[in-house]
Amino acid sequence: MPELPDVEAYVFALNQRLRGAEVSDVRLVSPFVLRSVAPAPKALIGDRVDQVFRLGKRLVFGFASGRSMVLHLMIAGRLHWHATPPKPKRITLALFGFDTGTLELTEAGSKKRASLHLLADASGLTTHDPGGLEVLTTDREAFTARLRHRNHTLKRVLTDPQLFSGIGNAYSDEILHAARLSPVALSQTLSEDEAGRLYDASREILTMWRDRLVAEAARRFPAKVTAFRSEMAVHGRFGLPCPACTTAVQRIRHAHTETNYCPACQTGGRILADRVLSRVLNKDWPRTLDELDRAPIPTPPVGDPGNEEGPCRSAPSAVMTGFQRRAQPTRRG
Ligand SMILES: [Zn+2]
Repeated sequence: MPELPDVEAYVFALNQRLRGAEVSDVRLVSPFVLRSVAPAPKALIGDRVDQVFRLGKRLVFGFASGRSMVLHLMIAGRLHWHATPPKPKRITLALFGFDTGTLELTEAGSKKRASLHLLADASGLTTHDPGGLEVLTTDREAFTARLRHRNHTLKRVLTDPQLFSGIGNAYSDEILHAARLSPVALSQTLSEDEAGRLYDASREILTMWRDRLVAEAARRFPAKVTAFRSEMAVHGRFGLPCPACTTAVQRIRHAHTETNYCPACQTGGRILADRVLSRVLNKDWPRTLDELDRAPIPTPPVGDPGNEEGPCRSAPSAVMTGFQRRAQPTRRG
């Protein structure tokens, strides 16, 4: 799923091409992508783009008329820019014509999850904001308070869009590695020092990747938006050497994906038992992909009613299993 750095790269590239641009055509190749009733897509024709911005992991197109278009790419939604209108492909969901070029929305795979909402005015945007804290514009105190709001594994807390904005499976792995913290440590048991390290690492990793991907987007429209990048430290690198210490990167497989970590840097040298930990993470993980970035709950309630399994009370004991066989790196996630 495109996360904060990827979405910011799209925002940059789209603003370069669309600020002030007039909509000349809207073509929904797959009508199911549109999840709102009014206004009608054709109402956008003749309207001008004011600006494009990020809302969590969503892209918002604001128009001069006050209308907004909210695009959630989910896992496999991608954008492409064309100088002239392309012929729709099998994976094309929609084509948006502008006086500056054509924006194509595609989605690979059979599960169509990407969604488009058209709003009559910006007031409707609040219903699309999961409410997560923007790590790059928040101070350490607010970050720590949000971190400790619920007692979950750090992996879950970082990727919960109601707690933190724009962080998913890939960048949470990278942040936890940079912070030298275990993905299954519990958020309410972190020391001040550990919480501070997580705050610093979150900002450092998101800033570094955002700047890198925006610089690439300044050269060309983002074409290879992926959760797996060769310069990443641990994400998607099971069995490969940790860049900090050369220990083989390990994994915990859970619900739909896997968590990657370096045992030497993050868990005091312990290999976390994949099977035990995956049970823990599965309990601490949304059941469906849609839950990963589900619609907002207005105010996070006190306690933990959002977690049907109830709060985790103690960290799972990490079981030594010896070094697991080194395997070929997987590309899941
Ligand atoms: Zn390491």
